[in-house]
Amino acid sequence: MLIIAIDGPAGSGKSSTAKALAKRLKLPYIDTGAMYRVVTLKAMQDGIPFTDKKRLMKIARKSRIEFRTAYRTASRGERDAVRQLVYLDSQDVTEAIRTPELTKNVFHIAQEPLIRREMVKKQRVMGLKQGGVMEGRDIGTVVFPDAPFKFYFDAQPKLRALRRYRELRAAGEQVTQAKVLRDILKRDRTDLTRKNSPLKPAKDAVVLDTSSLTIDQTVDRIIAHIGAKPLRDRRLGTE
Ligand code: C5P
Repeated sequence: MLIIAIDGPAGSGKSSTAKALAKRLKLPYIDTGAMYRVVTLKAMQDGIPFTDKKRLMKIARKSRIEFRTAYRTASRGERDAVRQLVYLDSQDVTEAIRTPELTKNVFHIAQEPLIRREMVKKQRVMGLKQGGVMEGRDIGTVVFPDAPFKFYFDAQPKLRALRRYRELRAAGEQVTQAKVLRDILKRDRTDLTRKNSPLKPAKDAVVLDTSSLTIDQTVDRIIAHIGAKPLRDRRLGTE
């Protein structure tokens, strides 16, 4: 299975790049952050306190999380992937998992070791089915430590905040740039300092500073790197 792991902090360009890369390589795109978000959403919908680890664990285990792709037929009759949709128990939750309130609460879920273990299990099943471009915080270190291609993205915090600010404004959220920067720095702290699977580059990851790169340029860099690796190294588990 061809797994391309992309890790990095919020706003480092992982999602946009991973989506574009998956499209170019015709691989599934697997957004692991969305999975932690889905469990957070379910907990909030069911009114489960974030201190009730037993019930949280139960929903993590029982929730059926799926990614579906919305297609449109392009010019020569080819299917063109336009949007990645996220489903929880057959309900489209693509928009619901992106609210600022939910984003503030995800860390409760992401810091629980048993929930992480459950998510990692689901992520491995998804990855091993068809391969994919998988993005998150611990893909190269924990989920697929043997992935043949690992990238760790970073960018200056101000720039990451600006990217996130533009996304939020485009989605109709009333936020200020200063507030988005504060939130990003706070999420950096929780991601970098949590005990379980903290955000860090895998030893063998290629570190990319995306501050001055466009999405297309970042995708080109990755493809150039992949092309430079010998074919026999490309697949997980084959030497
Ligand atoms: O990438 P995204 O911002 O959607 O991720 C939501 C949250 O889930 C992040 O704040 C991060 O702490 C957590 N996460 C994680 N491990 C992953 C992916 C995301 O802990 N593999």
